[in-house]
Amino acid sequence: MSLKETLEQLKKDALAKIESTTNLENLNEIRVQVLGKKGSMTEVLRGMKDLSPEMRPVVGGLANEIRDLLTGELEEKKEVLEQAALNAALEKETIDVTLPGDELNIGVPHILTQVMEEIEDVFLGLGYEIIEGYEVEQDHYNFERMNIPKDHPARDMQDSFYINDEVLLRTHTSPIQARTMEKHDFSKGSLRMISPGKVFRRDSDDATHSHQFHQIEGLVVAEDITMGDLKGTLEVLLKKMFGEDREIRLRPSYFPFTEPSVEVDISCFKCGGEGCNVCKQTGWIEILGAGVIHPSVLEMSGIDSTKYSGFAFGLGPDRVAMLKYGVNDIRYFYQNDLRFLEQFRVKG
Ligand SMILES: [Zn+2]
Repeated sequence: MSLKETLEQLKKDALAKIESTTNLENLNEIRVQVLGKKGSMTEVLRGMKDLSPEMRPVVGGLANEIRDLLTGELEEKKEVLEQAALNAALEKETIDVTLPGDELNIGVPHILTQVMEEIEDVFLGLGYEIIEGYEVEQDHYNFERMNIPKDHPARDMQDSFYINDEVLLRTHTSPIQARTMEKHDFSKGSLRMISPGKVFRRDSDDATHSHQFHQIEGLVVAEDITMGDLKGTLEVLLKKMFGEDREIRLRPSYFPFTEPSVEVDISCFKCGGEGCNVCKQTGWIEILGAGVIHPSVLEMSGIDSTKYSGFAFGLGPDRVAMLKYGVNDIRYFYQNDLRFLEQFRVKG
């Protein structure tokens, strides 16, 4: 058999093997046997040296042609077999969609987070900015700028955790309001903000007091802001939180940073005003404190109190959650007991 015939025979045999193989492993073996360094093609080409000079390029060209052909056939077959293997795997892994699924244990935000987000949503709708402050604050911003100098008796009501003489864990979220007021550029419009977050006081913990709790304070500063604006705003909030037919009532009160100051009550959402255990038989529930911002507080932040006025209010999401969901001990919120927390899937 001439070298040319041997090559033709090699081609025929290789093509037949490639054609008949049904798995990738076997296909690879064929490739090595035919085109590998010790394969039959190499073996045949060794005989080239015995050919006449005229015949060498002819046989060499044929050999290259066959090598290219076989390489292409091997590649094509490989793709076919890979696709077949994938199809077989998919076939085997067919999912029975009628079988019941595994139940996933899905968590929900903490009830206090849910309540705070609900309140934030109301104010975002009213065009307020949400600004969180520092939990570790300077005495200056926490007290002095809120009209509570060092010897002021109101400091007794907010006994705190001090880091040093001038730095403490904030007792209310008001310091961020002072910080925001002093930076606000009124040429760009009025200031409307709420500041949600954790606050700290050195209270002895009991059913209604915790050394850590939450506040959401609101603040509006603009020209011609009055008590009427305050009442209207709180009505929107409290109706949204406790029901459309709630009424609100303002009672005179005292806070160092507002003048006049008021306590705000809502008509009892449980009895509608007739008297029950939630409202302690009064028909009203004390819900938050508020007032018109004291001119000194504005002036200390560099705001002209003859031109601008404002209102401020502060409410406790802990208290709102306790009322709304009938929780009778604030400490449940902080004990991380899943039996308690899992009951509040308000947002699903
Ligand atoms: Zn009641």
